[in-house]
Amino acid sequence: MSKLASKVALITGASKGIGAAIATYFAAEGAKVVVNYASSQDGADKVVKAITAAGGTAISLQGDVSKEADVARLFAETNQAFGPVDILVNNAGIYQYAPLEEVSVEAFHQHFNINVLGALLAMQAAVKQFGAAGGTIINISSEAGRTPLPTGSVYSASKAALDAMTTALSKEFSGRNIRINSILPGIVETEGSRSGGFIGSEAETRLVATTPLGRTGQPADIAKVAVFLASDDAAWITGEKISVSGGIYGL
Ligand code: NAP
Repeated sequence: MSKLASKVALITGASKGIGAAIATYFAAEGAKVVVNYASSQDGADKVVKAITAAGGTAISLQGDVSKEADVARLFAETNQAFGPVDILVNNAGIYQYAPLEEVSVEAFHQHFNINVLGALLAMQAAVKQFGAAGGTIINISSEAGRTPLPTGSVYSASKAALDAMTTALSKEFSGRNIRINSILPGIVETEGSRSGGFIGSEAETRLVATTPLGRTGQPADIAKVAVFLASDDAAWITGEKISVSGGIYGL
């Protein structure tokens, strides 16, 4: 049986990379999927087209998660199209590495506005739509949040903040049947990690050398775990920070 049949799932930042894979895997398990994007409409529409061609159900919706009005519109349009959301995946995120002396106030605010405030706004909107049956939230965090790398102070701080929200909210949601967990990916080959220069870099080689499973991750590695966490198979799991990283210990 499909693990997410009749569920409505909103995945932020699903026009490419990890978010696109999660949207695709969720739809294959029967979820009605909202493919959110900020500016890459073409990418989001391609994801929707592939899902629909495979017999799934999906729409693309624009919305910058760091903007309160966009998030409100995104959830209203989701409700209009599919009904209230059951599953939220906070995947939209940015990652830039810079030495302390080069960290700008603007970069700080960008990271915290998208990676932290964006998730917060989406969670506020989602819990308003969750019905009596509750709901599920998955925060796509990072191994870099708990084992920061040099030059990753701002990005790592934003993901540590996201994980702190996962812990706090898992307790706050007590008695409401809302499960919330973080996935902490290691280095994953995506459009973002490629254009950021991580894939093919000396840093990637170093990280893979300290990864027991001996390779860089693929978006599907994360998506399969997201399906598990969103499904009833994970019915007794909340507040967890789950590393999906090939066992990396060299961060
Ligand atoms: P990616 O390829 O760069 O894709 C990022 C996605 O986020 C895009 O769909 C982008 O949409 C969307 N996005 C960015 N800003 C947004 C905003 N303000 N509002 C809505 N959507 C926004 O990224 P990725 O590598 O797949 O990473 C996805 C998540 O995994 C991030 O949270 C990242 O921190 C985390 N992660 C990644 C890795 C890795 O190695 N790749 C490792 C650990 C954790 P547009 O294209 O429309 O801008």
